[in-house]
Amino acid sequence: MKVYLTHLYPKQMSIYGDYGNILAIQFFLKGLGVEYEYQTVDINQDLPKNTDFYFLGGGQDKEQSIIFQDLLAKKANLGQNLENNVPMLAICGGYQLLGQEFLTGTGDLIPGLEILPVITKAPNSSVKSRCVGNLIVNCQIPELLGTKLVGFENHSGQTYFTDQSKAKPLGSVLVGYGNNAFEKIEGCVYKNVVGTYLHGSCLPKNPELTAWFIKKIFQNKKLDVFTDQIDNLDTKIAALAKESILGRFL
Ligand code: GLN
Repeated sequence: MKVYLTHLYPKQMSIYGDYGNILAIQFFLKGLGVEYEYQTVDINQDLPKNTDFYFLGGGQDKEQSIIFQDLLAKKANLGQNLENNVPMLAICGGYQLLGQEFLTGTGDLIPGLEILPVITKAPNSSVKSRCVGNLIVNCQIPELLGTKLVGFENHSGQTYFTDQSKAKPLGSVLVGYGNNAFEKIEGCVYKNVVGTYLHGSCLPKNPELTAWFIKKIFQNKKLDVFTDQIDNLDTKIAALAKESILGRFL
């Protein structure tokens, strides 16, 4: 049995160490003794035949403009896989591109995949209007209710839900901005797709969310046998690091 990990546009969309999210998933799979294959998809490359987990990291406006057309060309195939419950993590710029569109601070309109019911607009091009700093989220995913997620954010785009009937926020903001500077909500979760502004990188700092993704991967592969082992993996160091961060802000 092998788990297939697919990293979309790693050259353009993996800023602020977002590759660490892939490393966290690989750490858990290694700890469970499960074989995995790391696949990348660049511009003009098709999605792999097999994928159990998609990752799309953050990127500057320029990089988002470079990849969006190629990503739109993958909309049908990627969208179908996500509708079939394949898990995906999309960070910041990647998150924005799963929504309807991103209007940048300089007025460029970058269409998205319309997988998540969100729309993003940068108020203007001033650095002062960016959402930057530590971000702490009170998670609202049912299996992780009340878990504190920690990281940092750095984005001009401000994201709003267009419809909350099929998708929900990842959580409420305890420290920082999150989706935008007004609503104190962060991220978007639809089926097994999580879009979030949490850089950090996100999963190494939040092993509870990593475990959530691993369980979703195994559920899809009808491998619930690992569920207990996942919760017993040694993530003490991450837990201590999170405690120290929470102690500084809460
Ligand atoms: N370029 C996007 C913005 O500024 C996303 C930035 C990011 O991925 N950190 O909002």
